[in-house]
Amino acid sequence: MKPARPFDDGLRGTIEANASLADFIWFRTGGPAEWLVRPADVADLSAFLGRLDPSVPVLPVGVGSNLIVRDGGVPGIVVRLPKSFAKVSVEPGNRIRAGGAAMGITLASAARDAGIAGLEFMRGIPGTVGGAVRMNAGAYGRDASDILIETTLVLRDGSIETWPAAKLGYSYRHSMLPEGAVVVEALFAGTPGDPAAIGAEMDRIAAEREASQPLRSRTGGSTFKNPDGHKAWALVDAAGCRGLRNGDAQVSEKHTNFLLNLGSASSAEIEALGEEVRRRVAEKSGILLEWEIQRVGNPA
Ligand SMILES: Cc1cc2nc3c(=O)[nH]c(=O)nc-3n(C[C@H](O)[C@H](O)[C@H](O)COP(=O)(O)OP(=O)(O)OC[C@H]3O[C@@H](n4cnc5c(N)ncnc54)[C@H](O)[C@@H]3O)c2cc1C
Repeated sequence: MKPARPFDDGLRGTIEANASLADFIWFRTGGPAEWLVRPADVADLSAFLGRLDPSVPVLPVGVGSNLIVRDGGVPGIVVRLPKSFAKVSVEPGNRIRAGGAAMGITLASAARDAGIAGLEFMRGIPGTVGGAVRMNAGAYGRDASDILIETTLVLRDGSIETWPAAKLGYSYRHSMLPEGAVVVEALFAGTPGDPAAIGAEMDRIAAEREASQPLRSRTGGSTFKNPDGHKAWALVDAAGCRGLRNGDAQVSEKHTNFLLNLGSASSAEIEALGEEVRRRVAEKSGILLEWEIQRVGNPA
């Protein structure tokens, strides 16, 4: 049975009831979205959220490369920006404007082609610009907050605002993006660079990732944040968790800060494995790891 509609019609994009998220979330697990909305454009999203009952929760998702969707699914509205939000354009002053659905590799490649250095690290982050702005994604000593000038948001009440990066209260893998706010666009800046050198650095990053991360697996990226002065993977390894399994959920042998779905794991099994790793690490080292993966939705 379809849930009662907490909104009126008039959306120009699409809305789907009980929509599978496991189809595209990297782990390929978890329950459905009560409603999955793909807005046609910014005005459409703004008008939709403006009309939506304020008590209904709104969760934006990108490609789910840092997400556990619990098995009971996500209540309310899940917003997934379609391809029309994935445009990337170069602006004067070594700047690049990208839609919230553009992929990190697209952003990095456009910067390379325009001779803009400093965005190479985005080559290795397999998520969207929206996810990177929200998560303050980073690698090789650089974070999204280092290159972000400003971002355009559609807030939960439907208002459209452009925020300077400083207003996002960035710290390591954290932003103060308000709940339900959707990143629809972001403006980044780099420095002048040689496209060949930028390309070579991107190739180096790609090769290093291939060698060290389970890129072709069902995973959720870095599971835990690196505690101050420590590497999460080393703490997990030292606690004897390399290869640890819970059903079809496993701590990667290749990179111990990655969890894997070997085939038929549930989100509950993956999350329970993560909690077991936290417990063992705390027992061994006295350090309580903090989840980096966002866990959303209800248990089954
Ligand atoms: C193989 C692999 C390697 C990875 N390497 C790195 C790495 O080196 N560094 C790193 O930082 N991360 C890494 N990650 C994690 C992940 O790629 C990043 O966190 C990425 O930024 C998430 O983007 P996403 O579009 O997949 O977001 P999702 O996983 O879909 O969502 C993550 C969070 O962002 C929010 N969100 C997504 N889109 C929007 C939007 N448009 N507006 C507002 N909020 C939004 C969601 O609500 C959620 O809270 C890796 C992941 C994998 C699978």
